Amino acid sequence: MKNVNLGHRTIVDIDGQVAKVLKGLGNLEPPLDLRVVRELLKLDRGYYSTTDDRLLRETFSRMKVAGKQVLLRPTLLRDAVRSLSLKALYLPDQKRILLDKNLPPIKHRWNEAHEIGHDLIPWHADMMLGDTEHTLTPVCHELIEAEANYAAGRILFLGDRFAAEATSSSPNFDLVRGLSKRFGNTMTSTLWRFVEQAHAGRPMVALVTGHPHPTRRKPGFDPSNPCRYCVESPPFRERFGMTREVDLFSAIAGYCGAQGGGVLGQCELVLSDLNGDPHLFDFETFFNSHEALTLGVWLKPHVRTAPVSIFR
Ligand SMILES: [Zn+2]
Repeated sequence: MKNVNLGHRTIVDIDGQVAKVLKGLGNLEPPLDLRVVRELLKLDRGYYSTTDDRLLRETFSRMKVAGKQVLLRPTLLRDAVRSLSLKALYLPDQKRILLDKNLPPIKHRWNEAHEIGHDLIPWHADMMLGDTEHTLTPVCHELIEAEANYAAGRILFLGDRFAAEATSSSPNFDLVRGLSKRFGNTMTSTLWRFVEQAHAGRPMVALVTGHPHPTRRKPGFDPSNPCRYCVESPPFRERFGMTREVDLFSAIAGYCGAQGGGVLGQCELVLSDLNGDPHLFDFETFFNSHEALTLGVWLKPHVRTAPVSIFR
């Protein structure tokens, strides 16, 4: 699944909203403490748990998931949470964010920032939003969720600050790892923002997948849809956007070892651009014992001196 291309106008609008908040907080150093953001925006945060009924007994009649009205009559939050497998929720009339307590804490930060995004984006204001596990990860089919995720990234990575720091060194995994620590965000979300916002005009692509080695694939592995996410930098989308995820994955599988963690491999690969001209990319894959993260960075046009495998 490829990252959603938000329009220029939308990006400018959301950047402006987030910049206002960051300005209101003063020039903060990373990592951002979301508590100060909630204080500034007068947002309240609560948790719900499917095993704790107090909050779940509240009734709601207006609830939308990814912009669609899903409840036609007053419904117990408990039933909505269960039937829609919600993972987080924003109640605009109460200025209240609710997070699923049963999720691993490492996911709370992104989920909370995502809900703050709904609060910040003016055209989301009239919606009661519930987020399923599916839409809450940093991609989703619906534009509105992509917008909230974009805002979440701008908040958690302090607006332009991230790109300014990220583009001061050459792009590789060590840099992404350092930025992940510095900004206090997961490797996956850092890699994602890195490709989208710190590309500095260079074609780059990131993939989030299961372990690429054939002996390490999970039973449910779907060869026709091998990537959880495929994130393209705008210059990559423009020139290499027709590259298929299955082809990228099989090229990655070609150089990755079967190690259970750490760097799985690194390789120079040739990708054809829109005109059929070959270009050299540096690919590197890292396994965090849960999912494999791959970063591919454009190096230079490829001069054919020896036979190489070219795919598109
Ligand atoms: Zn959402």
